[in-house]
Amino acid sequence: MLAEPLLEWYGREARDLPWRRTRDPYAILVSEVMLQQTQVARVVQRYLAWLERWPTVAALAVAPVADVLAEWVGLGYNRRALRLREACAVVARDGWPDDLRGLPGIGPYTAAAVGAFAFGRDELPVDTNVRRVLERTGWSPAHTPPEVGQAMMELGAIVCRAREAACDACPVAGLCPSAGVVEVAPRGRAGDGVRRERFEDSNRWVRGRVVEALAAGTELPEGIELQRLERAIEGLVRDGLVQRGAEGLRLPV
Ligand code: SF4
Repeated sequence: MLAEPLLEWYGREARDLPWRRTRDPYAILVSEVMLQQTQVARVVQRYLAWLERWPTVAALAVAPVADVLAEWVGLGYNRRALRLREACAVVARDGWPDDLRGLPGIGPYTAAAVGAFAFGRDELPVDTNVRRVLERTGWSPAHTPPEVGQAMMELGAIVCRAREAACDACPVAGLCPSAGVVEVAPRGRAGDGVRRERFEDSNRWVRGRVVEALAAGTELPEGIELQRLERAIEGLVRDGLVQRGAEGLRLPV
């Protein structure tokens, strides 16, 4: 019942995003992995540049690891880039498996997303947006054609948001038991006693700066406490993202 108004709304209001114009499983996989850590607006240009550089599974499968890591700078966890490349190596050798979860780094959500949006399977990729829409509407569809999954994702991303449900503008408000009464988590405010870590204070940020410097062939970042820098480098070496050699640190080849 919800599907009809939802799809009608999606056809009218959906954002025009490049990965929605393709059924190429590789392109969809790249977009899904990028979107795991980075906002849509920032991913668009990175996605297009990535596909221009490595337009196919076969191209990424043989790309130098250092190039892949350098291209990934700023997109979050670098390990994801390596797993993406490994997954492409498997697909280049064996083809796309029926069960995509068998590929390196591909979890249930990504497998369902590629299965639905590339292969047209009746699978619902449940990300946080979709889960919220399901919970608030109480909907449990027996079948979810790919376009329904896309529409649910879009609704959760731009209308039925975690901290702001725009029920007045929602296409399924007439069928939703939470319309107008949804409880949203309050935004954190200064003085509420909850300490929030700035991204710049996180280990992930330091790791990103180290990879960035090695990819660009420049000095390691300055102004970061030596202990933090060492901890980040240790982690990168342990994860196989950076190698220590006679010449110092470098990205894997
Ligand atoms: S009516 Fe409100 S709570 Fe229900 S799906 Fe729409 S935005 Fe979400």
